[in-house]
Amino acid sequence: MDSYGEVVERLRSAFRSGVTVSEQFRRSQLINLMSMLKENEEKFVVALHKDLAKPRFEALLSEVDIVINDLHHTISNLSSWMQPEYVQKNLATKFDDCFVQRQPLGVVLIIGTWNYPLQLLILPMVGAIAAGNCVILKPSEVSTATDSLIAELVPKYLHQDCFAVISGGAEETKALLKNRFDHILYTGSQNVARSILQAAAVHLTPVTLELGGKCPCFIYGQVNILYAARRLVWAKFFNAGQSCVAPDYMLCSTAIRDAILPAIRQALEEFYTKEPQKCPDYSRIVSSRHWTRLMEMLGKTSGKVVVGGESNQEEKYIAPTVVVDVAEDDVLMGEEIFGPILPILTVESLDQGIAFINSREKPLALYAFSDDSSAVKTVMEKTSSGGFCSNDSIIHMSLPSLPFGGVGASGFGCYHGRFGFETFSHRRACMLRGWALERINSLRYPPYSDERLGW
Ligand code: NAD
Repeated sequence: MDSYGEVVERLRSAFRSGVTVSEQFRRSQLINLMSMLKENEEKFVVALHKDLAKPRFEALLSEVDIVINDLHHTISNLSSWMQPEYVQKNLATKFDDCFVQRQPLGVVLIIGTWNYPLQLLILPMVGAIAAGNCVILKPSEVSTATDSLIAELVPKYLHQDCFAVISGGAEETKALLKNRFDHILYTGSQNVARSILQAAAVHLTPVTLELGGKCPCFIYGQVNILYAARRLVWAKFFNAGQSCVAPDYMLCSTAIRDAILPAIRQALEEFYTKEPQKCPDYSRIVSSRHWTRLMEMLGKTSGKVVVGGESNQEEKYIAPTVVVDVAEDDVLMGEEIFGPILPILTVESLDQGIAFINSREKPLALYAFSDDSSAVKTVMEKTSSGGFCSNDSIIHMSLPSLPFGGVGASGFGCYHGRFGFETFSHRRACMLRGWALERINSLRYPPYSDERLGW
């Protein structure tokens, strides 16, 4: 047995011992997880700065506090989520207890990625612990500082027989995936997701896939241009565009494009000054490899760069960049950009915008900006995406009572709050019967003669 196998077996035998099942155990581990985040807040801020030059505010908001928020929500609802859910009955089951029991699945593997290296690993873990599972965390090897900190802290705060961190890249993850898990939650790219599914198929392991895609921001009709620009710029350039729910491209009429461009420039200057490279509130690209990929895209686009475009390889810096006159088949409209480059494409009607969105893979999020609420409703009803938000972006994922997950090519399954608890629970159909109504029950026994049945 290799060492990964030994870790999985250690957790499996802890799970079999039943230690994780009680509400008291789950609650205590969730509280410990909260302490880990609160007591080491500064260490996480430093690690996230090393990995992505994340500004302190962004690190707290999108990595630490979002998880603490979900922990509060989960801890206060845990007891009610764990209760049996009684269901509607019929005449034949009138005297029975019929309910859904939520059972933990066993040993769960959570594979994270580098853009929110803390949030995307620990937030799913909240649901897995709440549901009574043992968990192995596999952080991203790209965000090394946060990866090492998580590996150091988790064993100090959580029960060591039930929770473990295994670090490593593609080869290590492939070796780990040879083991049997009871659920795998993977966050990352679509290509790697295919090999995760293949590995899971060997053991018939259920999988949740949290993938990406190109999230459109469709601006239509009358709209508050200043507010729209500020909200769009904030969401697009937060974490230097390295957010799976960042608006990937903007769709609007030529008139709106011409009106919003000065407002975008103004918002960029207000947020990041005239020299974003010197601004402490603007992040860097995670690695040279990712920086090169983005700069190659920018080099190949046939669109016109109207804002930004400057870069510095040594610093892994790319300025907030806006590109117009982008064709539908431009390099910027191929794969997800995942960086601080905003292409603007024009469409001249609501139907044209909707048709454009529907001609592409279903995105993880879709944003519709308009003063016209019926237009927003039309976009919402005629399209499909993991999440939807009007007149803002990203912010919908901060509410723990909404599910977070994709659809189609952006993934399947979801988590956050109760949805995480459900993802990592088995819904067991339970019917507790006594000996009543035997005369009615005996109708089902052979011999099935018409005479006996009275037909
Ligand atoms: P990635 O798929 O390369 O890496 C993610 C994880 O998979 C890492 O832990 C890595 O070690 C592991 N991995 C890499 N290659 C592997 C292999 N061959 N076999 C097994 N495991 C392997 O993803 P990435 O490029 O780091 O992430 C970018 C993508 O993730 C974007 O598409 C983005 O939209 C998406 N994303 C989605 C969400 C979401 O919540 N839906 C969040 C963040 C990022």
